[in-house]
Amino acid sequence: MSTRARQYDAQVLRREQLSAHLVRLTLGGPGLAAFESTGIPDEWVGLVVPGQFQSRYYTVRSWTGGELTVDVVVHETGLVTEWAARDCAGDTVTVTEAKGSFALPEGAAWLLLVGDLTALPAMARITETMGATPLPVRIWAEVPDDLAGYLPDGSAVTWLDPPGEGESRLAEVVEGIDWPAGEGYFWMAGESGQMRAIRKHLMRERRLPSTAYDVMGYWRAGAQRQPRAVDPGPVYRAGKAQGKTDEQIWADYDAQHDAQHDHQQDHTARDHR
Ligand SMILES: Cc1cc2nc3c(=O)[nH]c(=O)nc-3n(C[C@H](O)[C@H](O)[C@H](O)COP(=O)(O)OP(=O)(O)OC[C@H]3O[C@@H](n4cnc5c(N)ncnc54)[C@H](O)[C@@H]3O)c2cc1C
Repeated sequence: MSTRARQYDAQVLRREQLSAHLVRLTLGGPGLAAFESTGIPDEWVGLVVPGQFQSRYYTVRSWTGGELTVDVVVHETGLVTEWAARDCAGDTVTVTEAKGSFALPEGAAWLLLVGDLTALPAMARITETMGATPLPVRIWAEVPDDLAGYLPDGSAVTWLDPPGEGESRLAEVVEGIDWPAGEGYFWMAGESGQMRAIRKHLMRERRLPSTAYDVMGYWRAGAQRQPRAVDPGPVYRAGKAQGKTDEQIWADYDAQHDAQHDHQQDHTARDHR
């Protein structure tokens, strides 16, 4: 049986500049018709853009009427950044199956969301999902642009300026939070170094059980990626030389690719993928 995760070809139907650093891409087309949402409000997909093999993760901002919306941060340099900064409407991309991680414990009395611009799509979707519940939701968003209209009306949000381009001080912000009484749920995502500091704070200072929080490194500052760290060419040639089928070769490639990718993304220790 193939170990390949499900993948879907999709076309970029629309590209919309939401702010200086945020671009909305609406994906669709017949290849995406079989896409299945997990329904988990911070769900994400891998996105492979034309001419690339490596994927990058993006939150499913919405999946409705056969259209999948992702909001892409356009930062200084990067595989997806450079592609999304251009007029990419009409391009064909690959989307991998959705995975999610947000797990609100039953009986949680409150919800705190903290994140930078990469986390804003997930924070918006989580807040929308909570709309019908009486659960108080408090948000801290560290973003470089004015995105006041991005979160649902009435959201209790503190907007914070990043200290510099590609920098974050969210760890410091969280250490200064006045925590609500009782038991709730803390969700946070952003730059990996900040997230590591926060996990320590939550475990050591606040002594939270791991079910009470979800803290994910969404990107890593300063880490220079190796484009195509796993080159499919040699994997394919080696597999053929060993008499493997294409299916087996791609399974080998995926295993190597995932190992490399997991390492790069430095995803949460409580990885639900
Ligand atoms: C579960 C999950 C969900 C995510 N959801 C979203 C989302 O909805 N929208 C979104 O934009 N991102 C999201 N991200 C983050 C995104 O996957 C990374 O930022 C990714 O590295 C961007 O790829 P790139 O090709 O633009 O840059 P890369 O090629 O990966 O990186 C190139 C360089 O840019 C730097 N870099 C990477 N990201 C940033 C950044 N945000 N700011 C400044 N410098 C950066 C790196 O350090 C590297 O040096 C998510 C990540 C995860 C794990």
